[in-house]
Amino acid sequence: MLLEGEFVALFGGIESGGTKFVCAAGTGPEDLCARVSIPTTSPDETIRCVIEFFREATRREKISAVGIASFGPVDLHPDSAQFGFITSTPKPGWRNTDLAGPIRRALGVPVAFDTDVNGAALAEGIWGAARGLDNFVYLTVGTGIGGGGIIEGRMIHGALHPEMGHMRVTHDWSADPFPGACPFHGDCWEGLAAGPAIEARWREKAENLPSNHPAWVLEAHYLAQGLMNVICAISPRRVILAGGVMQRAELLPLVHRETLRLLNGYLQVKEITDRMHDYIVLPTLGDNAGVLGAIALAQKLAEGSSQRP
Ligand code: ADP
Ligand code: ZN
Repeated sequence: MLLEGEFVALFGGIESGGTKFVCAAGTGPEDLCARVSIPTTSPDETIRCVIEFFREATRREKISAVGIASFGPVDLHPDSAQFGFITSTPKPGWRNTDLAGPIRRALGVPVAFDTDVNGAALAEGIWGAARGLDNFVYLTVGTGIGGGGIIEGRMIHGALHPEMGHMRVTHDWSADPFPGACPFHGDCWEGLAAGPAIEARWREKAENLPSNHPAWVLEAHYLAQGLMNVICAISPRRVILAGGVMQRAELLPLVHRETLRLLNGYLQVKEITDRMHDYIVLPTLGDNAGVLGAIALAQKLAEGSSQRP
């Protein structure tokens, strides 16, 4: 309980998505004190609305840092001239957009910046389905397929950041003549298995396909292929499968079965062989995962800077 006059600094979170920006202030899932959803229009207009939201929020509470968990690709290198930019996105108008800079300048607080999936992974690791794990992967299967995660307690960055959705999976053209929907690679993982691919292949939105439709067995097969690659490459302790397509309840058990079939008994760890239902799991933070991820990024930045001499 807070004593009168006691002061707790809040963090600001911005989930930057291709269709909406969700902004909130708080310190975790229990105390999101203000939340707003802003449609993604032009960069200028969208960023202006984000700044207005935080100016208003900071009239009542102090915000000590802001986190941005963004769609990408993004530049995450703090020493790069384009740090905080959305870079080569195909989203019209958003290529080479400085997102973190104007927000930092307008609000005068430190701004943490990372991918939406790394942010969501961080949040699930602190409050959700990966609590207590220092090595796990977070994948979202929605408009695209995105992957991020934590290895030995640190978010995966590297030369760019993981782009797991664009790995190659095998495509049996006779069983599935759909050429794939990725504008860069055609039948990469995302091109075959993200929501728009399901819709284009079957000429029906994924959410409207009946449970017994062959779409789901094929979808589980593609998802399991990518999962096998992720599991073999990274050796995560758990994989969180999020995104709109995973809202389909019957899909996860099919994915479990198909992943075990493709692994074919090679990885003899009990987490995988005996507890697959607890190894590939759905997220637990629901609709707020993205913005909580951004708040978690801000919190991490603030902790890091307070530890510096
Ligand atoms: P985004 O990736 O843009 O953040 P979502 O994660 O909500 O968005 O994913 C949107 C995709 O998920 C769409 O292609 C949509 O058809 C699909 N989708 C949404 N709800 C369901 C559902 N209940 N079952 C299967 N697919 C769904
Ligand atoms: Zn691709």
